[in-house]
Amino acid sequence: MRVIDVFSNNFDKILGKKRRIKFIILHYTGMQSTIESISRLKSQKFKVSCHYLISKNGYVYRLVSEKNVAWHAGKSRWREFVNLNICSVGIEIQNKGHGKNYEMYGIKQVSAVRKLCQKLRKKYKIPLKNILGHSDISPLRKKDPGEKFPWKLIIYIPSIKKLSKKKIKEKKSLIRENFFKNLKLIGYRYFKIKTKKPTDRMIIKAFQMRYFPEKVSGKIDKKTYILSQLLAQK
Ligand SMILES: [Zn+2]
Repeated sequence: MRVIDVFSNNFDKILGKKRRIKFIILHYTGMQSTIESISRLKSQKFKVSCHYLISKNGYVYRLVSEKNVAWHAGKSRWREFVNLNICSVGIEIQNKGHGKNYEMYGIKQVSAVRKLCQKLRKKYKIPLKNILGHSDISPLRKKDPGEKFPWKLIIYIPSIKKLSKKKIKEKKSLIRENFFKNLKLIGYRYFKIKTKKPTDRMIIKAFQMRYFPEKVSGKIDKKTYILSQLLAQK
């Protein structure tokens, strides 16, 4: 894989020991072009960066060395992990983003994301389920890479067809609570199992953008619920 080096100064060094990389975090840039994205990811003013940036036509740029901590995730949580910058590689994928002519990802672009993920997974022994979107780890603040990102080409997603035949056995009154119990087991945070919050919708949407992009409603419908059950058992 050809990598083009474009140096960004926006990173932290880990002093002494080597950094333990456990996650790959995928983002979209939310910028109009790759050139604009690079300039922001290098800018001293914005203080953001990533390890890799993948252009629309699948070029791979490296901005920060994997051994250093890039500034891509910000405030974030997943399972017992807090501030995932420390233990992840951040990949920005060029896309204008929601509300700015959110576009389909390119075929060459997705193929480059796949190859890069495969390479990193092998190198750091990262399980498939540890490839996450920014919206998974910061669901109250972020929507990237969003429902147009073809997660099914990157991670395991139970088939929707099979789900249609399944029945929900639980009482209706328990659905919400059980759903969030499942999400907690999967790794999502920023909600309470017993207490409803207005922000719950954003968590449900984050889950749907990844696992059920055909229907990002923010509501726990049957398929969304069953998906959560299947994934929590994994
Ligand atoms: Zn992001």
